[in-house]
Amino acid sequence: MNQILRSEAAKGVFINNRWQPSLSGRTIPMIAPADGQAFAAIAAGNAGDIDLAVAAARAALETGAWGRLTATERGRLLLRLSRLVDDHAEELAQLEARDTGKPMKQARADIVAVSRYFEYYGGAADKIHGDTIPFMEGFLVNTLYEPLGVTAHIIPWNYPGQMFGRTVAPALAMGNATVIKPAEEACLVPLRLAELAAEAGFPEGAVNVVPGLGEEAGAALANHRGIDFISFTGSPEVGTLVQIAAAKNHIGCTLELGGKSPQIIFGDADLGAAVQSVAAAVVQNAGQTCSAGSRVLVERRIWDRFMADLKLRFEQIRAGTPEMDLDLGPVISAGQRSRIGAMLQRAEQEGARILAQGEIATNSPAEGFYVRPTVYHEVNPVSELAQREVFGPILAAMPFDSEEEAIRLANGTEYGLVAGVWSGDGSRAIRVARKVRAGQLFVNGYGAGGGIELPFGGMKKSGHGREKGFEALYEFGAMKTLVIKHG
Ligand code: NAD
Repeated sequence: MNQILRSEAAKGVFINNRWQPSLSGRTIPMIAPADGQAFAAIAAGNAGDIDLAVAAARAALETGAWGRLTATERGRLLLRLSRLVDDHAEELAQLEARDTGKPMKQARADIVAVSRYFEYYGGAADKIHGDTIPFMEGFLVNTLYEPLGVTAHIIPWNYPGQMFGRTVAPALAMGNATVIKPAEEACLVPLRLAELAAEAGFPEGAVNVVPGLGEEAGAALANHRGIDFISFTGSPEVGTLVQIAAAKNHIGCTLELGGKSPQIIFGDADLGAAVQSVAAAVVQNAGQTCSAGSRVLVERRIWDRFMADLKLRFEQIRAGTPEMDLDLGPVISAGQRSRIGAMLQRAEQEGARILAQGEIATNSPAEGFYVRPTVYHEVNPVSELAQREVFGPILAAMPFDSEEEAIRLANGTEYGLVAGVWSGDGSRAIRVARKVRAGQLFVNGYGAGGGIELPFGGMKKSGHGREKGFEALYEFGAMKTLVIKHG
């Protein structure tokens, strides 16, 4: 495995289907979260590299082969890329696991999803069409979709491969030329995917990837005058900067920010299924999922029973290296682990109490960034732990007495990404689901991030715009209205 990984190191920036050295001449070490060791390096792309990447994308659209392809041809390229991802699935999964520390089964599932993004949007590329609008006598009016132009994609480290597929595939299906700035903490799979896109036959300039620091390469891309749209996934703080940059440039952006997603458990729910789902939804990817189910709201009449079952379940959870393939891996970095530790210390000072904890496997490397999965109860609904995203395997549990209180608590944070409602009473489940403000609602289940076909995105501070499903395509398309007077 190490040999594969070393061969990925520090090739530079990927522009016009070729690796070239970064103009900065600097590199960034890649640290494996599982053992804290540097195992590779990436180029620290800078503003000059971003200039070159944006120029390459512009040329691909205006004078290159990419801009001349038909929708069907674009779709075929995406399907070819999907097959190449399948062919390299094990290599990509190992790379993703090493880079992020996630268990191999999660990394393998992620790569299946990457392939599905290219497959789904490959199939959709030539099925995007406008309408004919009834208008005045003597006119024919059509709407049609065109690419926005050069689209910028700034992605995070938690699911590097999936995030690349999720944002780049629909942009390409629509005919845009892309510049991607993956996260400096983990980006080896995005870099490899760019190579595979070239191998699939994407013309030069369609897919350009510039790795580097957020405040350097990321800021240069977000503020570049040559881009036509920004797709951003990451923290609310950086999302604000990106939105300001987009506003100054008079272009659109989608922001996929964090969440504090609740699962609401009514007493008449299938409690066995709910316990399993609640634990899985916060432990997945060590809690570093924007749509992690990080709050559980439980009807008071079943509180004791539910908490007892949840305690038993949590005490079985194990963290370890990707190869151990347990329930979760480490968090991404030492910095992230200390941020989580500081937050938990403040929560405990505010009165939150530990109900249950999972374990870190004893043979996990001591230098790895492991965090024990933990459930807190007696969490004050207005405290930081109930309100702010931890981005770690930490669950905040709170009781409620009535349907109204459950809805109030569910809506009582600044976020609105995903929510789950568990009840045997179908009318109540639907009623509550309709009142909770979130972009995705699950009834008697929970899909943290699941479903390529399902439109996904935030309300409130979780962001705006939709990714996944057909909706994502429209975000990356410019609608034109064509008014023809024929007399
Ligand atoms: P982050 O905002 O620090 O980084 C995200 C990306 O932005 C990275 O590529 C980073 O290099 C870049 N960046 C950083 N500073 C920048 C700047 N000044 N200008 C332009 N780009 C810049 O977030 P993170 O720490 O990588 O990820 C964790 C956060 O992302 C969490 O809050 C999580 O909830 C959120 N997230 C949301 C989703 C979603 O779909 N809603 C998915 C994954 C992660």
